[in-house]
Amino acid sequence: ASDPRIPAIQSRIRVVPDFPKPGIMFQDITTLLLDPKAFKDTIDLFIERYQGKNISVVAGIEARGFVFGPPIALAIGAKFVPLRKPGKLPGEIISEDYTLEYGKDCLQMHVGAVKPMERALVVDDLIATGGTLCAAMNLIERAGAEVVECVCVIELPDLKGRERLKGKPLFVLLEAH
Ligand code: AMP
Repeated sequence: ASDPRIPAIQSRIRVVPDFPKPGIMFQDITTLLLDPKAFKDTIDLFIERYQGKNISVVAGIEARGFVFGPPIALAIGAKFVPLRKPGKLPGEIISEDYTLEYGKDCLQMHVGAVKPMERALVVDDLIATGGTLCAAMNLIERAGAEVVECVCVIELPDLKGRERLKGKPLFVLLEAH
C-alpha cells in the first residue's frame, strides 16, 4: 500500500524539460528541500524502513546522495560514507569507472571507511540507467561489506536501471516517466 505522504513529496519535485541537455526530463529535488514537511516525510519514510535492520553504513553518492544519506545515517545510528567524484577525497582511495549514456565517470571511496562484513545502504536521489548505483555497490563490495539495499527517492523505470543492480533490492518512494 502506498503511503499517504508520498503524493505530497511527488508534488514538490520540479520537472525541468531539456536540462542539462535536450531530451532530458530533469527531476529537481531542490524544490522538495524547500518544503520542510515534505523533506522530513521523505527522510522519515526511509528511517521507518531501515530502523532496527542492523545497518552500520549509509554510503551516499555525490552530490544529492549527500542530502538524503546523512539524516538517515544519524537516525539509525550508522556511519555516513561519501562516495565522491575523482580528485575530491584526500586519503587512500579505491575507484570504480563506469560508462554514462555519453562518456565516462568515476566514483571513489576512502580505503578503511567501510569494514569487511558491514551491512550497507547505498543512497542517491534518483536511479536512471543504474550505472552510478552499480559502481557504488562495487566499491562497497570490494571493501568486503554487504549491500543490503539501494535507496532512491525517484526511479525512472523505463530505463530498467533496476536490472543492473546485480540482484540487490532497490527501494524507491516514487516513479517518474
Ligand atoms: P544513472 O547512473 O543513469 O542511474 O544516473 C543516475 C545519476 O544521474 C544520479 O546521480 C542522478 O542524480 C542523475 N540523473 C540521471 N538522470 C536524471 C534525471 N532525469 N533527473 C535528475 N537527475 C538525473
